[in-house]
Amino acid sequence: MTAPKALVAGNWKMNGLKASASEISKLNTLILEKGAKCDVLICPPYTMINILVSLKAINVSIGAQDCHMNMSGAHTGDISAEMISDLGCDFIIVGHSERRADHGETNEIVKAKAAAAQSVGATAIICVGETIEERKAGKALEIVTAQIKASIPESAKVENTIIAYEPVWAIGTGHTPTAGDVEEVHLAVREVLRARFGDGGNNIRILYGGSVKASNALELMSVKNVNGALVGGASLKAEDFYGIISAYDKIG
Ligand code: PEP
Repeated sequence: MTAPKALVAGNWKMNGLKASASEISKLNTLILEKGAKCDVLICPPYTMINILVSLKAINVSIGAQDCHMNMSGAHTGDISAEMISDLGCDFIIVGHSERRADHGETNEIVKAKAAAAQSVGATAIICVGETIEERKAGKALEIVTAQIKASIPESAKVENTIIAYEPVWAIGTGHTPTAGDVEEVHLAVREVLRARFGDGGNNIRILYGGSVKASNALELMSVKNVNGALVGGASLKAEDFYGIISAYDKIG
């Protein structure tokens, strides 16, 4: 069984002004000169999508961090999947823990957003992960598998679905789970995907996210059923992010 091609995705969150476009040009050049054995994606704030797409940096796909569940209408301040797709983006993150916590997004909302993304032909990167209290209570697997089952829409197919396991307590904290803990959760995620998609479930990428950086990328990305990373802080600078991408040079 061959693993799906890995994806290293950067989530810039609410960071980046026009001048940050130079980081994408730098990243594109680094990949051009030194290579990349994985796919590479950056999800900037909405305000930068058009600028970054216009760079035509062919080694770096551009995606979005969220979308509304509806395609248009009276939703002040929101952005639809169709608008994102119209800019040429094929990936949309949904259900990031900061959206779940700051905006009260439930699994039901995340599912509707994933369906919206997939309906315009984009791939939904569906984020799940337990809090520290849930992990300490021994409920990590239960929480994560329940989130996945409730957040994957009917429209999901192997080709338009990616899962990102991001323990909430590891995001932006510098703390990471052990490789053994990551393996345990990713196997549980894989089993949910196999139950839902049959053998196709083996081909859905499961990303790990939470304080990934160049120094720990090789260890984390080498774990069975880890098919890439979702990276916050370490995706903002091209050299740092390339340090994670290049971990794949050493992974068979
Ligand atoms: C994230 O927010 O998706 C994330 C993983 O952040 P960081 O890499 O900064 O922990």
